[in-house]
Amino acid sequence: MHKKDMLHDVYIGKITERQAVKILREKFNESSDIQPMDYLCLSYGELTAISLNGISYKVVAKWRYKGWPNACARCKKPIDPEVDGWRIFRSAKINGKNRRNVMIGWTCCNRIVVDEICKAKKLKNKLNKT
Ligand SMILES: [Zn+2]
Repeated sequence: MHKKDMLHDVYIGKITERQAVKILREKFNESSDIQPMDYLCLSYGELTAISLNGISYKVVAKWRYKGWPNACARCKKPIDPEVDGWRIFRSAKINGKNRRNVMIGWTCCNRIVVDEICKAKKLKNKLNKT
């Protein structure tokens, strides 16, 4: 099977983000035999970033060629992208505006912890208003 290095193609501008998403979707629908990591030349970390964390190809391509962020945005511990247990740290609010999908880093810390902090902030904002 002809392999496709989409991250590379997105990085050099050969295909767009939209085309990359379309190709991936088509390949998955076409056959269940496809090993996406193998066919698309993605590492485990890259696939995790794209499929589980919803990070764009463009961003992951940049990480591949320029280097991944290497520390947790919360506890500052180093993170290995090829090892499970990290996730993207999105901010629910930035400068008081709702911007749910803004990525502000990545984290090895438990999602519950992050959610609790968001809740605590919301509560604090509520209390400050009243
Ligand atoms: Zn951490």
